[in-house]
Amino acid sequence: MVIVMAPEAQPSDVDAVVDRVESAGGQAFVSRGVHRVIIGLVGDVDAFDTLNLPAMRGVHDVTRISTSYKLVSREHHPDRSVVHVRGVPIGPDTVTLIAGPCAVETPEQTLAAARMAQSAGATLLRGGAFKPRTSPYAFQGLGELGLKILSDVREETGLPVVTEVVGAHEVDMVAEYADMLQVGTRNMQNFTLLQSVGAAGRPVMLKRGLNATIEEWLMAAEYIAQRGNLDIVLCERGIRTFETATRNTLDVSAVPVAQQLSHLPVIVDPSHSGGRRDLVLPLVRAGIVAGADGVIVDVHPRPDVALCDGPQALVHEDLADLARTVEDLAVYMGRGTPVRRLRRAS
Ligand code: PEP
Ligand code: MN
Repeated sequence: MVIVMAPEAQPSDVDAVVDRVESAGGQAFVSRGVHRVIIGLVGDVDAFDTLNLPAMRGVHDVTRISTSYKLVSREHHPDRSVVHVRGVPIGPDTVTLIAGPCAVETPEQTLAAARMAQSAGATLLRGGAFKPRTSPYAFQGLGELGLKILSDVREETGLPVVTEVVGAHEVDMVAEYADMLQVGTRNMQNFTLLQSVGAAGRPVMLKRGLNATIEEWLMAAEYIAQRGNLDIVLCERGIRTFETATRNTLDVSAVPVAQQLSHLPVIVDPSHSGGRRDLVLPLVRAGIVAGADGVIVDVHPRPDVALCDGPQALVHEDLADLARTVEDLAVYMGRGTPVRRLRRAS
């Protein structure tokens, strides 16, 4: 069951609802969106029916939800959400470009990649300091040193930082440096991590598990929302299929399907889907035209010596095409790009 509070509801109204639910033996999870508060109830729904919740002050609507992801569902939240990362919007009116190196390797490499990203029109910088690698012998990332490099590069370029957190015990530390926390595909069902990022006070980018159904993905998002954080962006990054010609198969249909089921923004990651530089641009096109609210791509000044995912990283020659594609297709889709707005404003 979900309670949608009226926009003018006071914090004391929310507390009163929570108290009443808890006094009936239920649990109430409060999520604060930009415009209104939503409270997800866990417990005996029939008992909740006797509490007269719709009559309480500040309550706009009480709905029995048939899906298992109540807070991220579009059922009681028909408008699609916009998530702001340090002021940069990701949502239905824009196509947001996130770019940067797969992994933070050195200050010079990270700054060079960030400048490349910025020249392509990116308004958010990606870069992994903690890398969840399939092989324990592969480069695992620089850890906190990598986070410091990212925050120096943010200072230098002004680009807010999106970076991955791999362990629940590291969430607070990563959140000190990051503007947006990334949960990677291998961790999509790490429920303790999801709960921790839900409480970290930062927007979260949740990648789809490589074997996860869309429903499982939305339930993973629900774990984050249930801890009070509705600033979640879903990222389709390719799923594992029988096909071996590409690293993963970009599930383009997941974009409109997830957007129909959930109010959360959905972006695509063409770099980790195709796994090949030459596929990034076609997959960027496919993603935007399918309705993605943004794309996240790998760039690297020297992919030949990259410590992680060099074959899929875009290089200087590719960036003009990328910039043009994102801007043109955003217009085609009737959207703006954050960078266009910034340019217009300056
Ligand atoms: C990444 O974005 O660097 C990454 C590891 O992605 P994924 O979790 O999608 O493999
Ligand atoms: Mn990578």
